[in-house]
Amino acid sequence: HSELDPTADVEDRDYESALRPKRLAEFEGQPRVREQLGLVLDAARHRGTAPDHVLLSGPPGLGKTTLAMIIAAELGTGLRISSGPAIQHAGDLAAILSGLADGDVLFLDEIHRLSRPAEEMLYLAMEDFRVDVIVGKGPGATAIPIELPPFTLVGATTRAGLLPGPLRDRFGFTAQLDFYAVGDLTGIVAASAGKLGVPIDADAQGEIARRSRGTPRIANRLLRRVRDFAQVRGHARVDRGVSRAALELYEVDERGLDRLDRAVLDALCRLFDGGPVGLSTLALSVGEEVETVSEVAEPFLIREGMLVRTPRGRVATRAAYAHLGMTAPSTNPA
Ligand code: ATP
Repeated sequence: HSELDPTADVEDRDYESALRPKRLAEFEGQPRVREQLGLVLDAARHRGTAPDHVLLSGPPGLGKTTLAMIIAAELGTGLRISSGPAIQHAGDLAAILSGLADGDVLFLDEIHRLSRPAEEMLYLAMEDFRVDVIVGKGPGATAIPIELPPFTLVGATTRAGLLPGPLRDRFGFTAQLDFYAVGDLTGIVAASAGKLGVPIDADAQGEIARRSRGTPRIANRLLRRVRDFAQVRGHARVDRGVSRAALELYEVDERGLDRLDRAVLDALCRLFDGGPVGLSTLALSVGEEVETVSEVAEPFLIREGMLVRTPRGRVATRAAYAHLGMTAPSTNPA
């Protein structure tokens, strides 16, 4: 398990509730999303009705769950949390929906992974605040309509494009979360350090922010690793030197690459002269599964402009050579 994997783990979940901003005003970064969402919520409050359904899309760890909680807090309503994969049958969804109180927020994470029947039930619920529960089987089956109170669905998905059109169209407001700028992450590190009671210099906050891959979850996790290091080594205060030493120990480099990312670049540049090389050959040469290389390491390396996928295979860019402190061969295609 890498410190830089944005997929949640158990340790994170305990800390995350403590570190989560509770109100929209405390939510750092994403200025456009904050402003648009603020407007949607204000308008609903003025009218005294439940706001339109909200779709949040973006990579893991950027704050979708946090925003869902903030929406409920700002509206002063209850919040139910579930996820696409947790809802096996349409009946599970019917049970959740019929348990909602007037104005509640229902957060459905990974909504693109709902089963087809559940998805169809959701269409009707979103549009008409009704579900049809099918009783019996075959020709004798009957649909019993159940009225639902008005509620707001907050759906989360990694990419809005993963949702079928009819589902996507039923959301009145869609917010696309982007990776955070270093300045925003610095603010998040500062706020989290305050909540954890960790004395930390501005330099050190920036040091952690720069290595966090644009992702608040990673920033909070690296902060905790730096705090461990400072406590065990007896540093009363986290300054730049302490944070650098800690992050070096965890093998997170200045651009946020970890050991696997560097191994991939290293193999690509040194063993294969910058490529193109096939994914499976590349994975074999770093001793990793194909999926780990293509789903964990590559997206970040591509985003950083260090690696490109071409029809003939993976190719290292000049930025990759520069990062490894090597000179790119003049024939290097990228
Ligand atoms: P996943 O889809 O993997 O569950 P997510 O997008 O729902 O991820 P969250 O769980 O909401 O991500 O956020 C991860 C952590 O990052 C939380 O601890 C939260 O406090 C923090 N965080 C996220 N966004 C912000 C923000 N804008 N300001 C401050 N903290 C944030």
